[in-house]
Amino acid sequence: MMVKERFSHLICDTCERRFEAGEVEMTCPDCGPDQGTLTVHYPYEQVAEKLNRQVLAERREMSHWRYLEILPVSARPSQLHPRVGWTPLYELDGLARSLGVGKLWIKDDGQNPSASFKDRASSVGVARAMEAGRGVITAASTGNAASSVSLFAACARLRCVIFVPETAPEAKVAQLLMFGAEVLAVKGSYDQAFDLCAQAAEEQNWYCRNTAVNPFLGEGKKTAAMEICEQLAFEVPDAVVVSVGDGCIIGGIHKGFVDFKRLGLIDRIPRIYGVQAQGSSPLVTAFEHGWREAKPEEGTTTCADSINVGHPRDHIKALRAVRETSGAMVAVEDEAILESMRRLAREAGVFAEPAGATGFAGLAKLVAQGAIGKDERVVCMVTGNGLKDVTTAITAVDRQVIPMEASAEAVRRWIEAEKS
Ligand SMILES: *Cc1c(COP(=O)(O)O)cnc(C)c1O
Ligand SMILES: [Zn+2]
Repeated sequence: MMVKERFSHLICDTCERRFEAGEVEMTCPDCGPDQGTLTVHYPYEQVAEKLNRQVLAERREMSHWRYLEILPVSARPSQLHPRVGWTPLYELDGLARSLGVGKLWIKDDGQNPSASFKDRASSVGVARAMEAGRGVITAASTGNAASSVSLFAACARLRCVIFVPETAPEAKVAQLLMFGAEVLAVKGSYDQAFDLCAQAAEEQNWYCRNTAVNPFLGEGKKTAAMEICEQLAFEVPDAVVVSVGDGCIIGGIHKGFVDFKRLGLIDRIPRIYGVQAQGSSPLVTAFEHGWREAKPEEGTTTCADSINVGHPRDHIKALRAVRETSGAMVAVEDEAILESMRRLAREAGVFAEPAGATGFAGLAKLVAQGAIGKDERVVCMVTGNGLKDVTTAITAVDRQVIPMEASAEAVRRWIEAEKS
């Protein structure tokens, strides 16, 4: 089934070969899936005639579908009703002061329908699978991409086959099963699950929602950057900080600013900073060595399961995002991630999963290093909700529940004991 595409062409991130719409589905055949990720281009001049500040200001669609003219789908399928995007951007003056930056906003993407940033990409991925008339969608995931795609596959009545590492947190697996996905818990790492999924997709001709190799996922993810621009009345921040595993979110955020600049909606792009967990930081290593690509690492570990990625699949776009914007990739220890979870909860009222709080941990480090200045305006992304991984949240807290007899006298005794 051929659908008229909104985008004009795709460009290979490595050899820069140009592909017309319909010519390739996933990656550049010359460069392969690891190097040949593709970037989506639009007829920007035509889009700019339809999408300007005034049109956006009047638009009532309070979801990421408000950017339909610059998304690779012909229309929002009515079945995909859950509201994705237009997540809150909280201005937090107290936290900005205690951190030592001029202005701080937290964008809480834990408030998406499956409770993570991944919904921005899955909704677009499933919309494309529907337009292409495909009956089965598959994904490999540390957990969130899977729960997200299974939600939208359920709405679209597509069969959904998921590959997760067997260590995926229980809440994420519960979401998968509840949405009716077929869940294969791979006795191995996420990186192994990814390769198995890619092979099955190829052999069975299933639609593949795997991050990076599907160029349209980043198009969904870019909407976070567009929302930031609109929510700040087009006064672009100085820096945006986000956690990084495969690198698709950071690449997508970069693309969102680039697309808005091409449309003439903004005149500059913020510095973009990526934050990895120390125990799983191949992109930080690549950044520090000045490599164009990441070298896969084995045996990575971190409490932040969503970014426990030894072989980052969107490495080229991720490194490009931080280099082209004069940002950086930094690593933080797990202890700093757990502390950030407490701080975000207690000083911002935002309950983040470990990977969701990793950006904030990196921000604290960047401020301490002087990379982000005390007068600067900063946006920090929270990418996933804390209820996704309660086991780690319990290890992050520094308080315990107090066992109590069911008697008023016992409560009084405890209050008295607290006073002394
Ligand atoms: C997937 C995910 C990330 C990292 O995104 P990448 O595109 O893999 O870099 C960060 N935080 C959460 C909560 C995620 O689910
Ligand atoms: Zn190529």
